[in-house]
Amino acid sequence: MNFTQFNLDSRLMVGINKAGYETATPIQEAAIPAALRGRDIIGTAQTGTGKTAAFVLPILNKLLNGPRNAARALIVTPTRELADQINDVIRVLAAGTRLKSATIYGGVGAGPQISAIRNGAEILVACPGRLLDLIAQGHAKMNQIEALVLDEADRMFDMGFLPDVRRIIAAVPKQRQTMLFSATFPMEVEQLAAQSLMHPQKIAMGISRPAYTVTHALYPVPQHLKSALLLALLKHTDTNSVLIFTRTRSRAEKVHRQIKAAGLNVTSLHSDRTQGQRQAALKGFKEGRHDIMVATDIAARGLDVESISHVINYDMPDTADAYIHRIGRTGRAQKTGDAFTFVTSEDEDLIKKLERIMGAPIKRETIAGFDYTVPAPPKSASSGRGRGAPGGGRPPRPAPTPKSYGKNRLGPRRPKR
Ligand code: AMP
Repeated sequence: MNFTQFNLDSRLMVGINKAGYETATPIQEAAIPAALRGRDIIGTAQTGTGKTAAFVLPILNKLLNGPRNAARALIVTPTRELADQINDVIRVLAAGTRLKSATIYGGVGAGPQISAIRNGAEILVACPGRLLDLIAQGHAKMNQIEALVLDEADRMFDMGFLPDVRRIIAAVPKQRQTMLFSATFPMEVEQLAAQSLMHPQKIAMGISRPAYTVTHALYPVPQHLKSALLLALLKHTDTNSVLIFTRTRSRAEKVHRQIKAAGLNVTSLHSDRTQGQRQAALKGFKEGRHDIMVATDIAARGLDVESISHVINYDMPDTADAYIHRIGRTGRAQKTGDAFTFVTSEDEDLIKKLERIMGAPIKRETIAGFDYTVPAPPKSASSGRGRGAPGGGRPPRPAPTPKSYGKNRLGPRRPKR
């Protein structure tokens, strides 16, 4: 379907052309007409589907009619990176209009955000905590909000934001259009939807299943050899841009240091870094100045980074859903990608669950020439108490014997794009 068929205000075609969109994605085809009619929407859409434009275009269309210079649309999102990303989409799509948007989130000074509101930003893209602060201080006025978007609602629930989200909903007018997007619907999100939406149109785009363009592989490895295996993998695998996930912030930093020491071009993204560092890391990674980014799950959801060739789970995530979100960072928009996951014997249950969801066994790989038999170094008193590490009150389980399923696709490293 072509964008001209939506009967959008002609001023929006400037931004659509600028964004380079030619035909609408399935979620846009389903959501835009309903949203233009003023319907509330519940969307089950994986990121990478064009979800952002699906709610941004109807909002811009609505705002082109009516008063200017007051906040009339509010988009609530769990992370600062997502807020920036959504705001970037708004800026492009609103290029032919004079509508203004602003991001509202913590970790940076409130001054510029307050100025943007005073200057009449019609669209606010906000994380819950800072928005509530600015509402309480009288800087952000919610009384003219006509459109409310709750993005990544399940993530907001996971992060403990639902009480804040409820406060925000209580602060905006009852008479409004609401769109809620969530990849999964735990009971709490269902309740939130039931309380905040009126006769919503349900739009489900793809079940919560990994993108078909991604090839998955498990790398059985004892916990103490993960870093050595990672370096071997990075050294030999043909990669363009690699996103590595660790379970904790401290482990992300450790792995970041190890990769850096090996002479590779790496950055990191996690919540121990300042907002400025987070923005610089993501920008550098998106723009190809860093080939590798080590992140905690903060980066797992919704981030739109083009052409990530590999996602490596240094640690298995906690849930199958988290796995799907992490590896959803690669294989986007018809591109292909690889998802490598390091697994220890403790991960067997989750592997079985993932294989059930994917309907097929995930192949196990080994790296030829890598010595899997190196014993764990003796633990000092200060050693970590991570999963699988001795000192956590129980002896370590023996590492699984790696099984080789087919030839490992390793070859000389190609020059970077
Ligand atoms: P999202 O799911 O909103 O994060 O979007 C994923 C990516 O798809 C972004 O890079 C968008 O710019 C891009 N995109 C969204 N809609 C379209 C479209 N109709 N045609 C081409 N690319 C699109």
